[in-house]
Amino acid sequence: MKKNIILMGPPGAGKGTLAKKLVAKYGFAHISTGDMFREAMKEGTELGLLAKSYIDHGDLVPDEVTIGIVRERLSKNDLDKGFLLDGFPRTIPQAEALEIIAKEVSRPIDSVINLDCDEKELIRRISGRRVCKSCGAPYHVDTMRPKVEGVCDVCGGPLMQRADDNEEALKVRLDHYVKSTKPLLDFYRDRKLLSSFNSLVDSNVLLDEISKFLEK
Ligand code: ADP
Ligand code: ZN
Repeated sequence: MKKNIILMGPPGAGKGTLAKKLVAKYGFAHISTGDMFREAMKEGTELGLLAKSYIDHGDLVPDEVTIGIVRERLSKNDLDKGFLLDGFPRTIPQAEALEIIAKEVSRPIDSVINLDCDEKELIRRISGRRVCKSCGAPYHVDTMRPKVEGVCDVCGGPLMQRADDNEEALKVRLDHYVKSTKPLLDFYRDRKLLSSFNSLVDSNVLLDEISKFLEK
């Protein structure tokens, strides 16, 4: 069983949705830098204020900040069932730092899962995306509607649109993806860790495919 995993893919490819399902199924610790930043923003901490100035424009939070929070998270002792990195690394310096950290804590990366998705579909997914303000559960106005309009199925919280899910910030995010994050595919291909999956299929079908791969 592969258990220390990196989940990669452009914004809107469905990383968050898949991550939640994998975490529920296998008990991996879910390490989402995006969620950690949003949590800090909600709490209004210093980290949150700093992150917000980048995130709202679609820019990347500086490497030293992001690497710092991941280093701290990976030093915790709740990782024996494995961990799922979601949204990290996003740059080559982050990937290089992660190699060192993973070695330090003796938890080497077993596999990098890349979600493939075409750009038109990304834009459709992100512009219709809604999230629960309380628990972060993901929805889509056409394809993943809640039972009651505007209300989270899981916790009853209100649904909202993320501030960075607007067309302008999305364009910036996609540019960063192409320039900074896509080169990581070669980085992990070279290390024989990369496997790609088409994310244009139903999310449960994708979960089955990836489960089979992880259990091999
Ligand atoms: P998405 O994959 O939909 O773009 P995330 O929730 O993963 O969203 O990230 C939201 C934002 O948080 C990013 O656009 C970026 O500003 C910031 N962020 C998250 N992870 C990182 C990272 N590894 N490095 C730099 N910035 C990050
Ligand atoms: Zn909720």
